[in-house]
Amino acid sequence: MIKIDGLKKNYGKLEVLKGISTEIAQGEVLAIIGPSGSGKSTFLRCINMLETPTDGRISFKDQVITDKKTNIMKVRENVGMVFQHFHLFPHKTVLENLTYAPMKVKKLSKGEAVRQARELLTKVGLAEKESSYPNRLSGGQKQRVAIARALAMNPEVMLFDEPTSALDPEMVKEVLEVMKSLAHTGMTMLIVTHEMGFAKEVADRVLFLDEGLLVEESAPNEFFSNPKSQRAKDFLEKVL
Ligand code: ADP
Ligand code: MG
Repeated sequence: MIKIDGLKKNYGKLEVLKGISTEIAQGEVLAIIGPSGSGKSTFLRCINMLETPTDGRISFKDQVITDKKTNIMKVRENVGMVFQHFHLFPHKTVLENLTYAPMKVKKLSKGEAVRQARELLTKVGLAEKESSYPNRLSGGQKQRVAIARALAMNPEVMLFDEPTSALDPEMVKEVLEVMKSLAHTGMTMLIVTHEMGFAKEVADRVLFLDEGLLVEESAPNEFFSNPKSQRAKDFLEKVL
């Protein structure tokens, strides 16, 4: 579904991604892990072209999205993104947060958008919050709204950038549960996370990034029990 070939990203002289290649199949769940500053967020942001790669090629279902001629807004409609800090619209209710883009971008009727939004809010356990404003919600609730909002665009891929890192510990689980059930629906997911237990349990594959390089990619069991590289060993020693 996604093919990444020699992806590089520089910020001025700083080489943040130094040539990353991998392929992601439909329905695959990837955990992207690595030290702070290794390029994980940049990698995700290149996949939906929030950052323009310096070099390399990314294709999404046979469409080369790094090609200047590609309508990137169209591609982005198929890619949902969830950030560490939620990014909800503060002046819209929960329901309006979910209906806004589908009505504006996908031209859904209000009735259809509301029906779909309520269905998604039920799925993330927040049906009773539809009239609340984001500042009335806990962090865990906000993040579940953010996930539902991304899903309201009916994306084919979901990107998560440390979705639980800003949450109080007691709220991490409710968000991971929502992500886990999403994984079970067959959604293609790329998840930057420090939740090693979650990565082990839910991911099909772990990508370990260090200093802008994809140092290791393997099945979670293999990665966590028998990391091949010294860098991965050192990293796991610190976090486990
Ligand atoms: P991670 O998500 O793994 O912590 P990032 O992708 O956020 O890593 O950042 C990788 C490196 O790129 C860091 O050194 C960071 O300071 C740098 N960086 C990230 N975004 C920018 C930017 N917009 N301009 C300049 N440097 C950046
Ligand atoms: Mg990051």
